[in-house]
Amino acid sequence: MSVIEVRNLRKSYAGNFAVDGIDLTIGEGEIFSLLGPNGAGKTTTVEILEGFRTRDSGEVRVLGIDPQVKGDGARTFRDRIGIVLQSTSDAGDLKVSETLEYFSHYYSGAKDPNEVIEAVGLGEKRDQLIRELSGGQRRRLDVALGIIGNPELLFLDEPTTGFDPEARRSFWGLIRSLRDAGTTILLTTHYLDEAEALADRVAVINKGKILEISTPSSLGGRATSQARVTWEKDGEMCEEFTNEPTSVVSRLARQFEGEIPKLVVSRPTLEDIYLEMIGQRIEVEA
Ligand code: ATP
Repeated sequence: MSVIEVRNLRKSYAGNFAVDGIDLTIGEGEIFSLLGPNGAGKTTTVEILEGFRTRDSGEVRVLGIDPQVKGDGARTFRDRIGIVLQSTSDAGDLKVSETLEYFSHYYSGAKDPNEVIEAVGLGEKRDQLIRELSGGQRRRLDVALGIIGNPELLFLDEPTTGFDPEARRSFWGLIRSLRDAGTTILLTTHYLDEAEALADRVAVINKGKILEISTPSSLGGRATSQARVTWEKDGEMCEEFTNEPTSVVSRLARQFEGEIPKLVVSRPTLEDIYLEMIGQRIEVEA
């Protein structure tokens, strides 16, 4: 079953298309990541899916509902989704536990606030005032508020900005566990390693259009791209691109009769591929 269905979505501001004919199908239990440079149309798309912006044209169904629905339908819709926005909310004079307790009453099937506090790693901060939390801890609270309603679909916008590396890893674990429990997640991120670590599929958006939808490992022909072998010989760096890196390394090992100096075998990262896609697009349109 698809949780998000988008056909030929368009939205313009003052005659310029921010979203210019997007098609998307996102399945239940999938982590789907939207990638694209600043101004690509990600936020506009996501906010249309969340029901915060109206579209000019196109078909949109989220959990089978048109997000532009009004009245009781809108309340039912909100009850089933969770949103973590880019900027942090401000409720500085409440404690962490009070805030989650308070927001849990907005939802019909809310999770236990204590379990959510533990899940986002704020157990030791439960009695602390929000204004006394660090930036990364506040971001965790935002995530806690996004999942307190036990959403079927979670929108995550730049969720780990301000996290230290350890906190990011543990947050990724939390997101995977939500997915494993059946939550569908739409992740917007500028961190390519985050998309690689989490996303089942990614869409690259530029200038309001989707360039490609694929798994992180096969985007832009990545799965079949050549390996790059580099090593040092007589003080100079050497490089070879090959489909058979093992043969190249064996040959070099024979040549050097043992250790190959400064040997590195690498494949293009998701970031390499992404930058190439975005760059190519700009070249084509220039
Ligand atoms: P970022 O990565 O910077 O958040 P984005 O991919 O989310 O970028 P959008 O915020 O969707 O991009 O913006 C897409 C385009 O639409 C941009 O050119 C932006 O200037 C324009 N735009 C967005 N919102 C409005 C608005 N309310 N009024 C006018 N133009 C807008």
